[in-house]
Amino acid sequence: MNADNFNALMPITARPPAAMVKGRGSYLWDERGARYLDFIQGWAVNALGHCPDVIVNALTHQAKALITPSPALHNGPQWALAERLVELSGLHQVHFANSGAEANEAAVKLARKWAQHHRAGADHIITTEHSFHGRTLAMMAASGKPGWGSLFPPTVPGFRHVPFGDVAAMRDAITERTMALMVEPVQGEAGVIVPPSNYLRDLRRLADEYGLLLIFDEIQTGVGRLGTFFAFETDAIRPDIVTLGKGLGGGVPISAMIAAKPACCFEYGDQGGTYNGNPLMTAVALAVVEQVANPHFLANVRTNGARLRAGLGELAKQWPIRCIRGVGLLTAIELSDGNAVAVADAAFNEGLLINAPRPTSIRLMPALNVSGDEIDRACTLLDRAFAKLGR
Ligand SMILES: *Cc1c(COP(=O)(O)O)cnc(C)c1O
Repeated sequence: MNADNFNALMPITARPPAAMVKGRGSYLWDERGARYLDFIQGWAVNALGHCPDVIVNALTHQAKALITPSPALHNGPQWALAERLVELSGLHQVHFANSGAEANEAAVKLARKWAQHHRAGADHIITTEHSFHGRTLAMMAASGKPGWGSLFPPTVPGFRHVPFGDVAAMRDAITERTMALMVEPVQGEAGVIVPPSNYLRDLRRLADEYGLLLIFDEIQTGVGRLGTFFAFETDAIRPDIVTLGKGLGGGVPISAMIAAKPACCFEYGDQGGTYNGNPLMTAVALAVVEQVANPHFLANVRTNGARLRAGLGELAKQWPIRCIRGVGLLTAIELSDGNAVAVADAAFNEGLLINAPRPTSIRLMPALNVSGDEIDRACTLLDRAFAKLGR
């Protein structure tokens, strides 16, 4: 492989020249043999780190038995995973898809169908500014990323945006055309924005008061990322619809849309997808869920999240860090001055992978089973990166 004359791929993002060839746990190796401590983990995807035995075993075992029968035939792993997710969520039924955006599309379709039955004439969903819900045309319209509305006109209608964390703004935006409220419990791509406490509970009350559906996009926050299996558990409430992706497959593509009984209104022909719920992916997700849903595992996520933020707090005494945000193992650093991309590049050169979702914020999303030593090492490498930048 030689990135310098590798032109067969459409350019959609800047990438370092060397290709990655091997992963194990919290470490990744490139073709030149350089090793990286990975605090991106495929974008908060590899819940159990790179190439864990549970996933390799689930994949090889299931691949030998059955890979894809057809979405129009039942398979065992799909049943088992759906049952487990229903049990963990306290909701009623599950629909599987292959990516986060696709699960959100299914959630919007379900909400529109529900509204046709229960809120005639309503077809709008209120989402939040700076939210991220995926890259399909409808999810770009749902997302509150500045500038996204006009990138690929015409824009899909049906979405309104209000500031995140602001229940009064949400209430003010409700009209007779509103059918649902849709938020990320913690905004991920916006730079790990944690809402005021009780925000989710207040949204639940608001949705109940106006007879609206409450949709949580837990594609980044779910499957243990925040130290509980679902983020909404912290507020002791339940949404009407929740979507999962990223960590659910621990590195393989699978997503899910889970809904409460009153919202489960799909009929034959309403929704489908060639690969939906195939046993290869559902067998892997089942293995991931079994590990992550263990209370000891989740307690460890909380402990290690606190350790990471304490370590970063030490760095803040010396380097231009304005604040540290986060819950569980989803953490961001807000720089008081400087360029987050430059910090991420400097960290890369020290052998640490971190991401800059916004010009002044850096996000860390290690494997959920990262060790305390690996967290300490990440802080050391980041300290060196800041020192190299000489600030
Ligand atoms: C990543 C993400 C998505 C989109 O998931 P894809 O698998 O990339 O389609 C949607 N919502 C949130 C909150 C995400 O973090």
